[in-house]
Amino acid sequence: MIGQKVRAVVLAGSNIDRDRCLPEAVRLMRRSKDMTVEGVSACFDTTAIGDTPNAPDYYNAAVVISTTVGPEELRDALRSIEDVLGRTRTEDPNEPRTIDLDIVFYSDLVKDFDTWSIPDSGVELHKHVAVPVADVAPDWVHPVSGKTATQIAAEMSVTSDEATPSRGPDLSLPYVTRSVGFDIDSDDVYAPRLEELIRSQLLEIGEDPEREGLRRTPLRVAKALDFLTSGYTTSLEEVVNDAIFDAEGAEEMVVVRDVEFYSMCEHHMLPFFGKATVAYLPKGKIIGLSKIARIVDVYARRLQVQERLTNQVADALADVLDPHGVGVVMEGKHLCMMMRGVQKQESNMVTSSMRGTFRSDARTRSEFLSLVN
Ligand code: ZN
Repeated sequence: MIGQKVRAVVLAGSNIDRDRCLPEAVRLMRRSKDMTVEGVSACFDTTAIGDTPNAPDYYNAAVVISTTVGPEELRDALRSIEDVLGRTRTEDPNEPRTIDLDIVFYSDLVKDFDTWSIPDSGVELHKHVAVPVADVAPDWVHPVSGKTATQIAAEMSVTSDEATPSRGPDLSLPYVTRSVGFDIDSDDVYAPRLEELIRSQLLEIGEDPEREGLRRTPLRVAKALDFLTSGYTTSLEEVVNDAIFDAEGAEEMVVVRDVEFYSMCEHHMLPFFGKATVAYLPKGKIIGLSKIARIVDVYARRLQVQERLTNQVADALADVLDPHGVGVVMEGKHLCMMMRGVQKQESNMVTSSMRGTFRSDARTRSEFLSLVN
């Protein structure tokens, strides 16, 4: 643990079962407690290098992460993901593999470890490293040469291995990744431990997990849960990305109404859902409207209570825009109340969160609240 947050670039490569393994590696990185995925490059098709005849082509992608662990711990975390994906390590560095995860850059660190080094030498030798890195982190400066990733990729010899954008999986969005090359009717497993737990749950409630209708239910539930809790593994940076614009003189309240949200209560893991109204008073910066819905999703797609969800959306906007003020009102129906217990089917829960002038200035607040209804 180094405590402070640093950014790093990881190169992922796969040439065995690559349609499954590359997206799965990115998914597992998103789930890892040791790193936060901030961006993923396009998927590149590359020919195998070295003298392994007939080695299958690779998929390569570069991933920008932030982490608070040191380089060795980060490498251990990446190796454990390789292990999950059935990586076997041999003496031959060009042996086909299910997945290879290498640290290309770690902040501006320059260091030789026993059998590896940072920066990874491959970034200056091979297009299959340089091109994906330049795709996701064009301005990253190589700490030794001082060149940017874009310059390194552009200057690379034409005789190097080729890396061409592929029609392979779209890695940029969490949880759509496994839909490529993944057949729900096959015997594939998606998340083995989770599926086993769901099978046990079915047995426990007296069901027969082998009957026709339930046979693939553990897999479907695992996929659904993965999606519905994908907020844990989606960073605000990744969502907001480059959708913040300078807008000198924009001083009018921006209001986005009726943003649908779907979440799950942390007490019963049952859905609650409804609409949010989000507003802010800009101080020189505005955000693309569609991003507000994405920010709501980041916090809704995890186990929540509605009060916290409302506060987190307000804090996130305050964080990325530094506006004069933010107001968020959410109105939700909670299935845990409607389907069980008190069965108050008509009751909606309303929560609000005010920041800055929305809290301190009565006129701003009442202008906002009048727009909510
Ligand atoms: Zn509940």
